[in-house]
Amino acid sequence: MLDIRFDNVTIIDGTGKPGFLGSVGVRDGRILEVGSFEGRAKETLDASGLCLMPGIVDNHTHYDAQVTWDPYCNPSPLLGVTTLVMGNCGFTIAPCHPSDRDITMRNLTQVEGMSIDALKEGIDWSFETFPQYLDMLEAKGVGPNVCCFVGHSSVRTYVLREDAATRAATPEEVKQMRAVVVEAMEAGACGFATTRYPGHNGEHGIPMPSRLADDAEMLTLSGALKDVGRGILMMTKSFDMPISTIEKLCAEANRPYIIAALLHSHLDPNKTFADLSEIKAAQSRGNRLYGAVSPCPLNMDFSFHSPYPLEGFACWHPMMDLSIEAYKEALADPAFRKAFMDELNSGEVKVFSGEWDKVYVAQVASTANISLEGKSIADLSEVSQKAPFDFMLDLALEENLDTMFTATIMNSDEDAVGKMMCDENAIISLSDAGAHLTFLCDAGFGLHVLGHWARDKRIMPLEKAVHKLTLEPAKLFGIKNRGYIGPGAWADLLLFDPKVVGRGPSHRLHDLPAGASRLTTPSVGVHGVWINGHKVADGDGLVNGALLSGQVIREYADAH
Ligand SMILES: [Zn+2]
Repeated sequence: MLDIRFDNVTIIDGTGKPGFLGSVGVRDGRILEVGSFEGRAKETLDASGLCLMPGIVDNHTHYDAQVTWDPYCNPSPLLGVTTLVMGNCGFTIAPCHPSDRDITMRNLTQVEGMSIDALKEGIDWSFETFPQYLDMLEAKGVGPNVCCFVGHSSVRTYVLREDAATRAATPEEVKQMRAVVVEAMEAGACGFATTRYPGHNGEHGIPMPSRLADDAEMLTLSGALKDVGRGILMMTKSFDMPISTIEKLCAEANRPYIIAALLHSHLDPNKTFADLSEIKAAQSRGNRLYGAVSPCPLNMDFSFHSPYPLEGFACWHPMMDLSIEAYKEALADPAFRKAFMDELNSGEVKVFSGEWDKVYVAQVASTANISLEGKSIADLSEVSQKAPFDFMLDLALEENLDTMFTATIMNSDEDAVGKMMCDENAIISLSDAGAHLTFLCDAGFGLHVLGHWARDKRIMPLEKAVHKLTLEPAKLFGIKNRGYIGPGAWADLLLFDPKVVGRGPSHRLHDLPAGASRLTTPSVGVHGVWINGHKVADGDGLVNGALLSGQVIREYADAH
């Protein structure tokens, strides 16, 4: 007898072929039959009018810390994600010497917008090495299926200790790092991830350790995957880093390489397309480069306590190491304000591009200012007759830096974003789920693709959108028997109403350890999410108590 059968459902199987009406039967966590077949089930669902697709594979998340206290990785499974890849950009928590825990947490606080109190109270440190981390996750159980990158910054800190963020490595240290990467790959890492992006800083603006790596270190560590013969490489690059630099690393390792973050900026509207055409040229030379593009406008909520969108500016850098008093003085200083505006107007692409009509006052700290909420800095600056940056800083200073702003900082040109998503070498990515918790929540990126892009904007057929969210990333990462609906595949399934599917507006919850806050997003049109044959969520949230039906994925297909 089957465990579940879905009847009268439109099956969109992940391969990209047209959807078809039929039934799907599940037994022992796997899909047994698809199409038209006999056989009773313990549970039969008449899913008329709904679509059934493989669960979404989210290839860019940062749940490495959160998963140790919240094995469900909220809110991703509620938003249709059944498999997620952690450790992107190389921001992992393993390996980690016990005495380096504090610096690891402090780095995450800054770069990932995670509360230090939440990390201190929340992280389970019952591991030191990367293999022990995977063992721990497996022993504790996970909600979704998880794949883990071994992260460059953690590997570097593990070997160079307190020097990790200050200097180049010696050849001997590079050799040791390579051994740590190989050990992690042999234990079941899905690949090696790093960042070179100047906006990625730890506490006090200290660069994330991987940014200190020289060419020899980059080549040697990427090349470790050649020895192992499998795995994927990923890097978040600086906006001006040429694709050819990454192509060399890709060629050395002879492994696929995901390049993040291809976000569209109105300051240089052709840049992402130039990168994509270089990626195409590299592909034609046999070097498997892929561009990670986001289907979401990059919206960020921030205050001037930690204004992540501005931290990529060179002039902001010294600000991050100041005492709070000196920092406030600097914010008030006309010379600093001028330096910032000069850098902003230099034409160089940065995360924040000065579109003041897309920066809003989200929440004021003082009731006297309540009338400012929901208004744009552009409009308020006109009324106040102050320059936009002056208006914003004056307001923040008046409110002891507690004012919350929200800004659409990149990817706001929908025509451009749609075109990027359709590029043959683009992978749909960059949800950043689990990170920037106080700034944004794009964990519902997949539902946004299905509703906004496929149904409303019609940039691609629904079947193609499903393929790009499921089988395409599963294949790229070598994740076996997932990402499609077919006999033998794991029963990772998303049942949804194609007429209304999408993501709702984000809102703030205070449910992290130590009462810290995070933004979250509700699903729209989701009727059920199953992971390895177990229903874990419906449209209202998690179901079945604390059932942990996910797997820590440690075995991957070699050749792809
Ligand atoms: Zn990231």
